[in-house]
Amino acid sequence: MIDLRSDTVTRPSEAMRAAMARAEVGDDVYGEDPTVRQLEERVAATLGHEAALFTPTGSMANVLAVALVVAPGQEVLCEARAHIARAELGAHGAVSGLTMRTWSHPRGQVDLPAIEDLFAPDLGPFFVRTAAISVENTHNFAGGAVLPLADLKVLRAFADAQGAAIHLDGARIWNAHVATGVAFEEYGAVADVVGVCLSKGLGAPVGSLLVGPADLVTEARVRRKRLGGGMRQVGVLAAAGLHALDHHIERLADDHAHARLLADACGVDPATVDTNIVAFDRPDAVAFVAAAREAGVLVGAVGARTVRLVTHLDISRADTDAAAKVLAAI
Ligand SMILES: *Cc1c(COP(=O)(O)O)cnc(C)c1O
Repeated sequence: MIDLRSDTVTRPSEAMRAAMARAEVGDDVYGEDPTVRQLEERVAATLGHEAALFTPTGSMANVLAVALVVAPGQEVLCEARAHIARAELGAHGAVSGLTMRTWSHPRGQVDLPAIEDLFAPDLGPFFVRTAAISVENTHNFAGGAVLPLADLKVLRAFADAQGAAIHLDGARIWNAHVATGVAFEEYGAVADVVGVCLSKGLGAPVGSLLVGPADLVTEARVRRKRLGGGMRQVGVLAAAGLHALDHHIERLADDHAHARLLADACGVDPATVDTNIVAFDRPDAVAFVAAAREAGVLVGAVGARTVRLVTHLDISRADTDAAAKVLAAI
């Protein structure tokens, strides 16, 4: 089976497992795991922020991050297909007591006029107050689309003028960096709080981080424990993340090239594929997925009419060519 369902399906390489086995560890709830500390300091510095917190999942990083800047009874604005709106199973409402309103963009982009229309400043006892705007870069369900830095800067200026925070769901910020050459600090500078994942294209088995100002990250450490996310000798996992940062960022360019080849085979203009995800409409998405499975290729349906393919570390050029043949035939 060639598995293009998600970039989460990668298995840790031998070299990554060796790094995990070697990791120096301690009790991280006591702040005594040196490998976790090293990972947190490194990721914070990479994004030009003060501090970071290791979390088991990207969802937990996002839930903590958004709740740091949006109080219960306030709202966050995001694009309609954002991961925080669609794929975190309502956690932001169920756990954090905040609400969301959304704008829609076919490529998941910042739509400033729409955001201006939605935005509700503090008007006292009338409307839910907009406390933050969330953006996703790259945008998963919009086909791995990159959000241009210029748009993010305009959004930053708007948020500053309104006294609102910006949350960046940077689960795949690594892919955005490789696709555009924009420095991680530039992406970090447009956001107050950021979530990043090590377990997607970077190929670690587990792990995400929340990044932000030191005081907020200190508070997030308390809240992580409250959610059951305080972990102990977790340096074995942080070591996988450090290995991924050293070895698996630049190679994402291969995944992007493979995605463009698959797009071409599926009748999608490769020029519209920014990174490692190809999403396209088929009236019969579920039947398409079943036919591909029958022929040895696993792909996903992320909506009744949307098929999604994701390339990753465990998909070679030969796998890509084989999958392209199968998908083109379907
Ligand atoms: C995968 C993903 C996350 C986090 O997912 P987990 O499965 O909870 O680690 C967050 N945002 C986006 C855009 C993602 O694709």
